[in-house]
Amino acid sequence: MESQVQPKLIIHGGAGSSLHGKGGLEAVRRSLYIVVEEIYSLLLSGATASEAVVQGCQMLEDNPRFNAGTGSVLQSDGQIRMSASLMDGASGRFSGVINISRVKNPIDLAQFLQNSPDRVLSDLGSAELAREMQIPSYNALTDLRLQEWIQERQDNFKSTMAGVVAEPELIESSNAGRGTIGVVALDAYGRLAAGTSTGGKGFERIGRVSDSAMPAGNYATSNAGVSCTGIGEDIIDECLAPRIVVRVTDGMSLKDAMQRSFGEAHQNKRDLGAIALDVSGAIAWGKTSEILLAAYHNGEKIGDTLEWNDSELIGYC
Ligand code: ASP
Repeated sequence: MESQVQPKLIIHGGAGSSLHGKGGLEAVRRSLYIVVEEIYSLLLSGATASEAVVQGCQMLEDNPRFNAGTGSVLQSDGQIRMSASLMDGASGRFSGVINISRVKNPIDLAQFLQNSPDRVLSDLGSAELAREMQIPSYNALTDLRLQEWIQERQDNFKSTMAGVVAEPELIESSNAGRGTIGVVALDAYGRLAAGTSTGGKGFERIGRVSDSAMPAGNYATSNAGVSCTGIGEDIIDECLAPRIVVRVTDGMSLKDAMQRSFGEAHQNKRDLGAIALDVSGAIAWGKTSEILLAAYHNGEKIGDTLEWNDSELIGYC
């Protein structure tokens, strides 16, 4: 296969309402840049978009700062249940796992399911698949997440989980819920892929299904790819990722598709964010929440959205 296209990459570590302290911001920036640097050089060395997305998701899942894989938030019953999905734009195939426990990298199962006739598995089936794949049992619980849960339980689960990353100072306000991760890549062959992985919203009912393992929250075709974060119910109600991708497929520029879709989400009072790429190499991000933790490589340099707090709903380059 001949490579002709300049690769592009955008990743996120969640959206939410606050990012406490400069220390927090710089630490998040470092965490994101390490992934962008490594995955972008992988793309330059000829990795496919899907390979790059899976590896990027693994790195973000392994960072306890984010609410996916290690560092996932606890659900109402004190258990971790994770969800992840992968969509390969070239094959047009979506695959994912819903509410899986005791694995290190849920994205690995989504990758395996790309070539299976049954491509989305719920809790029981995912556990069975992990056994078949001989994935060792893994405890994704961190001390910080346990403390958050204990404190929240003492307060009788009153406060909503509205933060983005597990900063110690956030425990005070029980504010460290969201921080889902996502990666969208355009490879050197012009193919797109999107992956998303999450521990969920935090304190949800047993059996609640996250948008992160639905096309609503993670979608890619040969034209565009999108990974979402924020309140899953809001993302599902907007059907956000396909909404943007279909608009691009129908001829809108990525910028206009994002502008229109985030305008609608804002009007509908949704709390969400998304990252996106299109096949021409355009990069875009959007949010109705206060902050979005995203970083990208546009072929020349790395940029991020960590200090983006004006009233614009979208940004692009
Ligand atoms: N979208 C995820 C969910 O609702 C949470 C997040 O993105 O932070 O499960």
